Amino acid sequence: MVEIVWCRGMSNEKETYSVLGMPVHCLPDYGNWLLDRLEAGSGCHVVTLNAEMTMQAETNPALAQTIRQAELVIPDGAGVVLYLRLQGRKVKRCPGIELAESTIARSRQGKHPIFFYGGAPGVAHQAATDLKQRYPGIAIAGTQHGYLKTADEEAQFCEMLQQLQPSLILVGLGVPRQELWIAEHRHLCPQAVWIGVGGSFDVWSGTKSRAPAWVGDHHLEWAYRLYQEPWRWRRMLALPKFAFKVLAAR
Ligand code: UDP
Repeated sequence: MVEIVWCRGMSNEKETYSVLGMPVHCLPDYGNWLLDRLEAGSGCHVVTLNAEMTMQAETNPALAQTIRQAELVIPDGAGVVLYLRLQGRKVKRCPGIELAESTIARSRQGKHPIFFYGGAPGVAHQAATDLKQRYPGIAIAGTQHGYLKTADEEAQFCEMLQQLQPSLILVGLGVPRQELWIAEHRHLCPQAVWIGVGGSFDVWSGTKSRAPAWVGDHHLEWAYRLYQEPWRWRRMLALPKFAFKVLAAR
């Protein structure tokens, strides 16, 4: 079961906080907000902000601009939440994979077709199939792996996406590729909700496992990922840099 995330004591208005220059939106219920966008067909881009992405944005102006322009930036990572708490903001963590899954689960009985783009060949398809078994009412518009080789292949894919006009488009190409890809292509389906979901297809398809709940509760999801994927160590050097900046900003 997925948890519906909310922030205690907040009004229904979207509040915007800053994490080292990046916006983070705080809402009483992210799921309801997204469902309203789906129902209204008023497209949006959802960014799931964590410490690593915040540090990447410092040296990648296109990524920084994309995050600033996104209609919804959720506090996905423990570091982002910690930073905000040190600033006196009572913010609850909202893992992107859980928000995406709750949006899938609540996308009403086939009314909001979902497209899955990204992951190794077969992974997005498996993820969609498994989710359909768990939430039989959902409508799968289509799936596409994230390793298209030529500009022609990508152009064909974009044409198909434009024809399908899915309501919810999940893009799992990793950071920052997925954020930049969404910013560049969202005009193809302007009414859709677009979410950059990182490695969520790997988890939904059973290719990888998520950290146990207690690991997340102790803000140690990064350590679990490092244990599962040791090649991440270089990327994770961003975390002590982020921690240093957090402490310096106090
Ligand atoms: N991926 C992809 N195309 C690429 C590179 C990566 O589809 O050219 C997929 C990869 O298979 C994986 C996801 O992007 O499913 C990245 O997952 P990761 O957990 O690394 O995401 P991040 O930590 O960057 O959010």
